[in-house]
Amino acid sequence: MAGQGRRDQPLTDRPGGAVHSPSVSAVPVEHLDELQAYAEAVAGCTRCRLAQGRTQVVFGSGNAHADLMFVGEAPGFHEDKQGVPFVGQAGKLLEQLLAGIGMSRQDVYIANVLKCRPPGNRDPQPDEIEACESHLFRQIELIEPTVVATLGNFATKLLSGRPLGITRVHGQEQQTTIGSRSVLLYPLYHPAAALYTPAMLKVLESDFVRLPELLGRRVEPAAAPEPELALVAPRPPAEQLGLF
Ligand code: URA
Repeated sequence: MAGQGRRDQPLTDRPGGAVHSPSVSAVPVEHLDELQAYAEAVAGCTRCRLAQGRTQVVFGSGNAHADLMFVGEAPGFHEDKQGVPFVGQAGKLLEQLLAGIGMSRQDVYIANVLKCRPPGNRDPQPDEIEACESHLFRQIELIEPTVVATLGNFATKLLSGRPLGITRVHGQEQQTTIGSRSVLLYPLYHPAAALYTPAMLKVLESDFVRLPELLGRRVEPAAAPEPELALVAPRPPAEQLGLF
């Protein structure tokens, strides 16, 4: 399975996923530069109140050209200190689950709905999600994953655009459009929840093993937008012009 879920392998844990030696990568350098530049711009974000309490923005990490991207909820204590998502207990479980399908953090890209830690790890507030969501959408556009695995309720509801909770939709892939990209959205239980609930962990494990199959699927391109009505409306005959 090694190698699955990534394109070419530019790899780093630095925010934005910039490559250390672009000369050895077959990936267009401008694209990586763009993600890195975006990460640097977001590092100074003050769009919501969370800017005041954070140590740093936790933009995301991993393979900037991964086919598989994970989206969690928000940085916690350790993520806020280290600037890298999923470095605590939940992150260890995520790494174990990845190892179970022959992958590692270096094969995937990991980000969160919120880029800054909510105080005391409380739930993200609707206005914080609204302020932050365009960062995630842009990240997805730049990384171009084929499969986006949402971890828990917040990421699932945001990216599916539907209010259905994770208990109802976990393990059910759905094709969706994010920005201009068609992706397979795959909702999973959040590893932090599974850590303390053995039954949930079993479900998470069995949902997780389907990821290689989903990565092998062809994702239909996003449908072209409807043409503007004005463009398809028949022109009136010339002699009628100016009648009204
Ligand atoms: N760590 C993260 O980065 N995100 C989560 O959702 C949980 C832990």
